[in-house]
Amino acid sequence: MNHKINYHASYHKVEQCPNPDRPEFAFIGRSNVGKSSLINSLFGRKELAYVSKQPGKTQSINFYKVEDDLYIVDLPGFGYAKHSKKQRSSWDKMTKHYFLNRDNLACVFVLIDANIPLQKIDREFIGWLGEHHIPFALVFTKSDKSKPRELKENIDQIKHDLLQEWEYLPEHFITSAVKNEGKELVLKYLFNLADDLIGNEGE
Ligand code: GDP
Repeated sequence: MNHKINYHASYHKVEQCPNPDRPEFAFIGRSNVGKSSLINSLFGRKELAYVSKQPGKTQSINFYKVEDDLYIVDLPGFGYAKHSKKQRSSWDKMTKHYFLNRDNLACVFVLIDANIPLQKIDREFIGWLGEHHIPFALVFTKSDKSKPRELKENIDQIKHDLLQEWEYLPEHFITSAVKNEGKELVLKYLFNLADDLIGNEGE
């Protein structure tokens, strides 16, 4: 079943973002990791999040509303090779400001390419989230690109690498936007969290 999702608005400043009056779920990852495709696949809408043909082009914070219940936030991708130092630093400032200032942030879905080793920039970003106690889950993307055994080996290695720095791993999901795989588990996790938060309101 698809959930009713609509584009809400885009912002260039965290201060302009909507009132934090419902649970919010953010999606982020390196440029080209498959973020737009995953958001489209999760909500069954082909062109909801524009599948960026020019990676890293959008530097805005894009809000979507699911039913009237929660926000999905598509954050600009990081690590795009052609970005200038200035663009990187403005990305850094904006996204970190976002993470530290959204009281309604329920979970950040950090997207990681399931087919390549964990990149330094991913590790640093995850480290930053952990240090600041921002709740996050890992979503491995493009699982259709490797043979099952290679995929498992690579993901096991990534988990192993992360466990060098962390006592335990956060929730993680293996997905393919091309094959629409893994999306039910991501959605179940997301809606369960949202239900808990909405249910607990005012208690
Ligand atoms: P974004 O920059 O993170 O938003 O990434 P996009 O969603 O634009 O995807 C980047 C590229 O990866 C595009 O060429 C997509 O077609 C491709 N892609 C995205 N998801 C998948 C996937 O699940 N499997 C495969 N094989 N390719 C994918």
